[in-house]
Amino acid sequence: MMSLQRTSSPNDAPGTAFPPWLTAPLGHLAAWTRAGRLPSGLLLVGPEGVGKGLLARRFLQWVACVDSGGTDQPCGICNGCRSYLGGSHPEILEVAPEAPGKEILVDAVREVVDFLSLSQSGPARVVLISPAEDMTANAANALLKTLEEPPAGAALLLTATRPARLPPTIRSRCQQLRVPHPDRKHVLEWLQAGGRPALTVDEALAACLDQPMAARDLLQDPEAIDRWQRDRGALNALLKSRSPFPVIDRFTACEPGSLVPRLQCLLVSAQRWLLTEEADAFGRLFDSAQLAAFAQAHGPRGLARLLQDSQRWRREVSAALNPQLRCEEIVLALQPA
Ligand SMILES: [Zn+2]
Repeated sequence: MMSLQRTSSPNDAPGTAFPPWLTAPLGHLAAWTRAGRLPSGLLLVGPEGVGKGLLARRFLQWVACVDSGGTDQPCGICNGCRSYLGGSHPEILEVAPEAPGKEILVDAVREVVDFLSLSQSGPARVVLISPAEDMTANAANALLKTLEEPPAGAALLLTATRPARLPPTIRSRCQQLRVPHPDRKHVLEWLQAGGRPALTVDEALAACLDQPMAARDLLQDPEAIDRWQRDRGALNALLKSRSPFPVIDRFTACEPGSLVPRLQCLLVSAQRWLLTEEADAFGRLFDSAQLAAFAQAHGPRGLARLLQDSQRWRREVSAALNPQLRCEEIVLALQPA
C-alpha cells in the first residue's frame, strides 16, 4: 500500500524513513532539475543494496510532486504524488526486469523510445531503467540513439551496481552520479529508528552482508525474520554437531531457497577465516571456535569444492522434487572427509 503520510512517525517500522545517506544525492538531482541542468542521460552508480532504486524512485516522485514547497522531498499527498505512487503518472515510465535476475529485453526499451518521443504535456518526461546492467545487448543498442539525440525535455535515469557490465557506448553518454556506501553508524541509526524488531539491527545487517536495503526488508518482515532464525539455527547445528542426523532435521525444516545462499555465506566466512584467522561479519554471528574447527576440517580445497557444489545446490533446490532427500545429500556433502 502506498503511504500518504507527510513524514515518518515514531511508530513506523524500522528503515521506513528516507535513508539519510541518500539525502545529498537527491539534493543534487533536485538542484540540477531546478536549474534546468538535469542531464538527458544519468547513471546512478553505487554498491549493491545501498538504495539506488529507492533514490531514483524518490526523485521521480519529486518530479511528479506539485507541492514540494521548495524542498527536495515530495509531499506524498498531492495529485502528482498520488498518480506517481499509483503507477499512472503520464510523464514517468519505469522499466525493470519482469522478475529479479531476469533480463530487460529490447521490447521494453522500444517502449521507452516511443514514450520519450511522444509530445509531452508537462515540462519533462523521465524514464527509469533499473538495474540498467540487466539490459540485453540488443536492448542497450536500442537505447543508444535516444541517448545520443534525446528528444527535448527527455531524461533517462539508469542505475547500475556494476557499470562495467554496461556497453561503453552507454556509459560514455551518461553523466554518472555516485552513491557511496554509507557510514555503518548512519545505517544502524536508520534501521533502529522507530522499531522494536524481533532481531537486532546488528544481526540483520550482518545477515544481509552489510546491505542496508536488504537489512531493512528483513527487519520489516516477520516471516523473513523467522526464516533467518531457522537458517541460522540450521547453520549453527552444522558447525556444532558431530553427527549429520540432527543437522538434516534442521536443514529440512528450512526453506532451501533461503538456506542455501546463507550456507554459501558461511562457506565464504570459513574461507576468510583460513586466510586471516578472523571471522567476517557473517561469520561473527556464529561461535568462533566452531567456525574455525569447521574451516580447518575442510581446508581451502574442501571449502572451494563445497562452494562450487553449492552453486549447483542453489540451482537445484528450487526444482527439487524431494527436498528431504536433497537436504540429506547436502548435509552429507558438508561432512569433513
Ligand atoms: Zn506531492
